[in-house]
Amino acid sequence: MIRVSNLSKAFGAKTVLRDVSFECLAGTVTCLLGPSGSGKSTVLRCINGLERMDGGDIHVGEIRVAPESLPSVRRRVAMVFQRFNLFPHRSVLENVLEGPVQVLERPEQDAREEAMAILERVGMADFAHMRPTRLSGGQQQRVGIARALAMRPEAILFDEPTSALDPERVGEVLAVMRELAEEGMSMVVVTHEIDFAREVGDQVIFMDEGVVVEQGPAQAVLTDPQAPRTRLFLDRVL
Ligand code: ADP
Ligand code: MG
Repeated sequence: MIRVSNLSKAFGAKTVLRDVSFECLAGTVTCLLGPSGSGKSTVLRCINGLERMDGGDIHVGEIRVAPESLPSVRRRVAMVFQRFNLFPHRSVLENVLEGPVQVLERPEQDAREEAMAILERVGMADFAHMRPTRLSGGQQQRVGIARALAMRPEAILFDEPTSALDPERVGEVLAVMRELAEEGMSMVVVTHEIDFAREVGDQVIFMDEGVVVEQGPAQAVLTDPQAPRTRLFLDRVL
């Protein structure tokens, strides 16, 4: 579904990604772990073209990520952000409708019905006509996920979707993500939630200082990490 090959990226003189390679198979969950500043967000941003890569290749299905392919890449790959990025002055439903109506140019009535069904799925249908600013962080993030789903993506990139939430709100968002995974959505998830990575992740990629230090099946990497840096990181977060 997503293939990252020898990705490299610098900001000015600073190299932030070096030869990053991994594959996310269709219907699987890849968890990207690593300390702050290791380049995880930059990897996600390169996949959907929010950052230009300096070297290497990224493919989404058969499409090579490049300036001219960005519209089709972004139709296939949706992104969920740490800070939700909802429009504060529009209702929950309008936030979810924006993509399908404006970008996919779907008929308003169809899009509205589908948006309501998606809000139902993330447990937010009762809040459809409220402003996001009146919701808790966990509720806003569930709307963020609904907005991503409304684009009918083939894969979703999550960048620390629970890091901005109060601890008691983390579980409701992880539960929605777990359901999506069980339904077969392809997902790349940057997270510090090690239990989620172990239970829901198929594959774990551990990054440090812009390189992939270790990657493999989630269970194996998280229960018996081979690289000293992975061990050190897991000892700290667990
Ligand atoms: P992570 O998500 O793992 O915390 P990031 O991908 O956000 O790491 O950042 C990796 C490195 O790139 C950090 O050193 C960060 O300061 C730097 N960086 C990220 N975005 C920019 C930018 N737009 N301009 C300059 N440096 C950046
Ligand atoms: Mg980040």
